Amino acid sequence: MGTDRPLPDLATLRPAGGKRSSKRDQILNVFLRQQAHLSADELFELVRREKAGIGRATVYRTLQWMVTAGVARKVDFGEGRSRFEPSYRHPRHFHLICANCHRSSEFLSSDVESLIEEIAAARHFAPSQSVVQIFGTCEECRTGKQTPTIDGATTELVFARDALRMAIATERSGLEFYTRAAAMTKDVRGRTVFERLAGEEREHLATLQKRYRELIAQDPQLESRPTFLFFKGAASGLFATGAEQLRKGVNDEQALLIGIECERGSHEFFKRYGERFEDSEGKQVFLEFADEERAHRDLLVREYRSLRERQGRHRRSRRTPIAKRAR
Ligand SMILES: [Zn+2]
Ligand SMILES: [Zn+2]
Repeated sequence: MGTDRPLPDLATLRPAGGKRSSKRDQILNVFLRQQAHLSADELFELVRREKAGIGRATVYRTLQWMVTAGVARKVDFGEGRSRFEPSYRHPRHFHLICANCHRSSEFLSSDVESLIEEIAAARHFAPSQSVVQIFGTCEECRTGKQTPTIDGATTELVFARDALRMAIATERSGLEFYTRAAAMTKDVRGRTVFERLAGEEREHLATLQKRYRELIAQDPQLESRPTFLFFKGAASGLFATGAEQLRKGVNDEQALLIGIECERGSHEFFKRYGERFEDSEGKQVFLEFADEERAHRDLLVREYRSLRERQGRHRRSRRTPIAKRAR
């Protein structure tokens, strides 16, 4: 994972040493319209239905070129032949593959990715690609209950949905954190900062919820589709632990430090994962959110410094008379 070339601009793609051939264009167009993971033969059949006169060999060559150019990804579902999926606006992911109906469904888990990275690092191994495939029987084949899969074009939407849900959960826990921190902070300036951040979280929360509603409106089935992104650590919102610490009772300085820690964690989380996603709305959500969290962290760090300064002055001014007395 995370070893993709930068995404090519489809409009400017050219085969090496030549003009873009119109056959290649036609094959590319058919491929990009597909939802599923196609084998070379399936793509050839689709192309042939639309356009006579394109040979199998040309389709095969074009597929190879698409993989090299970063337009397509090769996947192997253990059938003894390769399948191909578009990589454009399609985040990297893992697959669940049904041995009965041969349908595949996509998911992404940063917990799994982190673990893979951890293992590779521990073994001083430079990973170029990692594949996680779960083979078995899907719910529909087991129970007959119709269940939507996540595949192709839906992945982009479901990804954005889950990224937004995660950002919303984080905003909620942030809002709770700052509201609580504001209520218990005695230092007036510190309290004002917490109130301001609570206000910002409230505003962002409203924006994210609006964006969520707009996204849901694009696909009536979107809310009922299965989970795509699995993040154990972020499920309850990244500020939940911080809010828990506040509940135990802390002073102003500690409250600021906990806030800084939460914002730092949140910033790093959204940036780290946002950066490795392929170009998509989900990626946008993560990166924008990462920026907001950094701005919050910086604000808290400034506030922490100025609180320490005020306290320092306070202590010094109190200490002076005692020192005089001691003389
Ligand atoms: Zn099945
Ligand atoms: Zn896939």
